[in-house]
Amino acid sequence: MIELYDVWKTYGNGVEALRGVSVKIKKGEFVYVVGPSGAGKSTFIKMLYREEKPSKGAIFVNGFNVDKIKERQIPMIRRTIGVVFQDFKLLPNLTAFENVAFALEVIETPKKQIARRVLEMLDQVGLKGKEHSKPNELSGGEQQRVSIARALVNNPAIIIADEPTGNLDPDTSWEIVRLLEDINYKGTTVIMATHNKDIVNRTKKRVLAFEGGKIARDERRGGYDD
Ligand code: ADP
Ligand code: ADP
Repeated sequence: MIELYDVWKTYGNGVEALRGVSVKIKKGEFVYVVGPSGAGKSTFIKMLYREEKPSKGAIFVNGFNVDKIKERQIPMIRRTIGVVFQDFKLLPNLTAFENVAFALEVIETPKKQIARRVLEMLDQVGLKGKEHSKPNELSGGEQQRVSIARALVNNPAIIIADEPTGNLDPDTSWEIVRLLEDINYKGTTVIMATHNKDIVNRTKKRVLAFEGGKIARDERRGGYDD
């Protein structure tokens, strides 16, 4: 469902962020993306939802040839991928309900259906009763749960999380990882970039270790740095 063939990325300033990355990720996998700062993790992740385009190589995601699609087709692939960020990226003036609903409003879902689906999602991420809270009234972990609900609401085949626990304390980080495991167990592919060694080493999942723009290690039940 995700295939990269010899993908290179050179930014405008000449930095080679990816240098010949080839990898396949199957439906239903849970994959950690690890490596030192500047190794190319974020660039790799941004390629998958077409936030960045490769300079060379081919990328297929959910049946779309991502490096070839037209601008106007981008929203179509974004609907098959939910993205979760370190800093949550919630709209501060909207409630938890409205932040999740927003992802359905932009694709013109009928109002009744929106309400049902949003409540179902907030329930699934453990936020029943917090529908009317705004981001600044929620803890970091709760805000990340809202952003996971928003990422899930269109029923994507893939969830991509870029350092989702980067702003959270260790206990809350584990809760978020358990939630992502639960989502993965229900069939959604999860790709998570992280610096959290404890989580990577203790959950024993596939690990893609980036170094200098290349995949230095790809292990089935890997650790952070062994
Ligand atoms: P990581 O996520 O592993 O820290 P990145 O993919 O963010 O790595 O960065 C890889 C390299 O590309 C780094 O040298 C970084 O400075 C550079 N880089 C990232 N984004 C840009 C950009 N928009 N313009 C120029 N260089 C960038
Ligand atoms: P304005 O509506 O004046 O642009 P707001 O602060 O109300 O400013 O909205 C900020 C952003 O949130 C805008 O991009 C808007 O489209 C979006 N937005 C506003 N209300 C809602 C809502 N009820 N549900 C989803 N998104 C909303």
